[in-house]
Amino acid sequence: KPDAKADSGTTPVMAQFLAAKADQPDAILFFRMGDFYELFFDDAVKAAAALGITLTKRGKHQGEDIPMAGVPVHALDGYLARLIRMGFKVAICEQLEAPAEAKKRGSKAVVHRGVVRVVTPGTLTEDTLLDARGANRLAAVAIRKGRAAVAVVELSAGAVDSVACDLSDLGAALAAFRPSEVLVPDRLFSDEALKGALDGSGGVVQAMPQALAEPVGARDRVQRLYGVSALDGFGAFEEAEVSALGLIAAYLETTQAGKIPALAPPRRSGESGFLAIDPATRLSLEIDRTQRGERDGSLLHCIDRSVTSGGARALAERISRPLRDPAAINAGLDAVEWLLERRDLRRDLRDGLRSSADVARATSRLALGRGGPRDLAAIRSGLTTAQALASLFAASARDPLAGPPARVLACLDRLTLDGELSHLLADLGDGLIEEPPHLARDGGFVNPGHRPELDAARTLRDDSRRVVADLEARAVAESGVAFKVRHNAVLGYFLEASAKAAENLLRAGPDSPFIHRQTLANQVRFTTVELSELDARISQAGHRALAMEGETFETWRREVARLAGPLQGVAEALAELDAHAALAEWAEDVGAVRPVVDDSLCFDVEAGRHPVVEAAVTAQGDPYTPNNCRLAGDGQGASRLSIVTGPNMAGKSTFLRQNALLVVLAQAGAFVPARAMRLGVVDRLFSRVGAGDDLARGRSTFMMEMVETAAILTQATPHSFVVLDEIGRGTATYDGLAIAWATAEALHETNRARTLFATHYHELARLEERLDYVCNLSMKAREWNGDLVFLHEAAPGAADRSYGVQVAKLAGVPSAVVGRAREVLERLESEKAAAARLDDLPLFAAVAEPAPAPMSSALDDAVAAIDPDELTPREALEALYRLKGLA
Ligand code: ADP
Repeated sequence: KPDAKADSGTTPVMAQFLAAKADQPDAILFFRMGDFYELFFDDAVKAAAALGITLTKRGKHQGEDIPMAGVPVHALDGYLARLIRMGFKVAICEQLEAPAEAKKRGSKAVVHRGVVRVVTPGTLTEDTLLDARGANRLAAVAIRKGRAAVAVVELSAGAVDSVACDLSDLGAALAAFRPSEVLVPDRLFSDEALKGALDGSGGVVQAMPQALAEPVGARDRVQRLYGVSALDGFGAFEEAEVSALGLIAAYLETTQAGKIPALAPPRRSGESGFLAIDPATRLSLEIDRTQRGERDGSLLHCIDRSVTSGGARALAERISRPLRDPAAINAGLDAVEWLLERRDLRRDLRDGLRSSADVARATSRLALGRGGPRDLAAIRSGLTTAQALASLFAASARDPLAGPPARVLACLDRLTLDGELSHLLADLGDGLIEEPPHLARDGGFVNPGHRPELDAARTLRDDSRRVVADLEARAVAESGVAFKVRHNAVLGYFLEASAKAAENLLRAGPDSPFIHRQTLANQVRFTTVELSELDARISQAGHRALAMEGETFETWRREVARLAGPLQGVAEALAELDAHAALAEWAEDVGAVRPVVDDSLCFDVEAGRHPVVEAAVTAQGDPYTPNNCRLAGDGQGASRLSIVTGPNMAGKSTFLRQNALLVVLAQAGAFVPARAMRLGVVDRLFSRVGAGDDLARGRSTFMMEMVETAAILTQATPHSFVVLDEIGRGTATYDGLAIAWATAEALHETNRARTLFATHYHELARLEERLDYVCNLSMKAREWNGDLVFLHEAAPGAADRSYGVQVAKLAGVPSAVVGRAREVLERLESEKAAAARLDDLPLFAAVAEPAPAPMSSALDDAVAAIDPDELTPREALEALYRLKGLA
């Protein structure tokens, strides 16, 4: 480890490095040296290993060689992307002045350097480092007085969110934002209860000093971030929220080195604003990622018809954070319906949007001082689109009968540019060339005619260039030598001739007009008085032009930073319209309908389809079988809990997930793939898929499943919707059945949530007779010439058998084994009469005395413990011998 104290042998540059490094101990420091970023000591070793770049040495520090590695400045983004993806933090230390400036202070003076930015996963803004269709968010978590809070900033949209919730909802609140980085006070870092929530968020977790989360200091920091003297104007924040916002403010201060973009005030949403979906449910339903972490195959990917990256992000947000308030949900549905009914308008809208660029990200890059002329062009194209769309909608907006609904009107309002934005657009339209370069550095992006003095400098430069071209011809005529005018960075303009042709000139006396500059192997270079004057004039004019372009860029950049708020408003409106139109487009494609969403406890789906499975099945040319599903939390007109049975592969999980996904879609304000749907809003959605589908996770699976079941039983309310698939599979049959039984009873009696409960335990079908609001459903299958045909149809009634042997046959288990299994099964089934009699169980009651366990013999136990579906023929045989021994 380098010692920050420079000893006598330390060079001034190394002292500068050590000082910068001392401030950034946990980041890899990229230290700018001319055209390279250099890395020293451990940073060099780590980065060389991570990036596969060469590790060398440079000088000594305290008698030891200093390990060093370097990357060229122009290749920075690529290396950054890789390091960030691997979870490193990177601090960028720049030269803060031109070397010439330093020289003025003395020949030994060192260029000023400073850390201008710490790059972390949650604070990226570069297009090359970001996923265009996904938001990049930094989150912070805090807990105070038994309440939890999540604060979130999306730097590239200038948006801030704050959510206060109960501890148990923290995981759901955090996962809804899919942050790429999560800040946690170090005291909570190793908190077991928090671990699930942090792991489920998918972000890189950064521990922060606890002191930064203390409310008083945190409040000060947030006020400073917004330049206000009290936060009350933004809302009444809970202490935990202030702490979490304070962590964000502290992190932005250090990572952005003071350059913080204009952030919108925190949007507050209590737990009542959104449908709570915890991380396990998100994963199981594959809402925005599949269980393997891919976007392809998720609900979002399946329905995404957006045409802009901003729209894709808005849609992702909408699907990841469905709402809970029927009025808000219906407002979104109104917008989708209105656009669905206007196909031509929608087509024109989408065509218009296609040509607009990513205004949100361009604005934030410019505001942060990282943008270039191309970002200005993005803003110009966004504003142009906004204008075009505002006039596209003008006619319909005036229609008193079928005018746009409130959400669309609100977008149109923001697309109507005010004086300042119109002025910015006019200025960029006039001044910025059609396709500007990425970087401002080399100039060439300001239109001719925009600034007369720039034109003058350019004319001087270009005219002089023309004179230089003439000069070549004159020099050739005068000397008879085949001169060529050339240019390089060291000599500027010069005349070049081959060594042979130049021989005479070199012998010429001092009054020859051709002054020797340089001799190479085959060429000799000359200048003339006129040429060097022209050269000076050209380079001066060039510098002046460049400086003026730089000024123009800076003026535009400052204007964008000043107008960042309204510009983000335009970006949001474009994105929201794109998302509404995309949902309308999808609804038309797949024949989705508008769900009726209200405050009831109803769940009634007619001919519903699973959007993702349907797409997959129909792509293979097979039909998808729609299914009805009716539940009612109050038991009015339908049961509260359905026990779903049926063989493996019959479509149980698809049916369960389909109905949960319809809840997500409806509450996201999207149409649903069904003939009709009525939904009483859901407050929490739970989905658990049992051990059967997840053997890879091994022995801890059952424990995981129980932890998740516990979460449902403690959190589900009468407004919740629960989908449970094969709970209890991960343990012995008897245990598993008991747990499944008790869970189903509790969900029905205590939680009173609308529940779909898929199970292999056909015994659970008996709950239908014992509880008030239970009904059995089974996924139909038929045997056809000894083969099994799945109808994928959910019909009333329990499955009579599980067809495990038939499924084994379908799966290609050798016929001898299948035949033997059939024999064993028949023998076992003939003894089934002796199995445990669950009908004897007293009805579940939340506070009842523990009921005496029903008496059963060892033989009963042993028989009940056998799951024929699970046995190999050999095990079946052994089981038979065991039973024989007990009889
Ligand atoms: P289970 O959970 O009962 O084992 P799955 O829900 O995994 O069965 O369904 C197995 C397969 O059956 C799915 O991958 C899908 O291809 C097909 N499937 C399921 N439901 C339907 C349906 N309603 N219509 C058509 N095919 C379906």
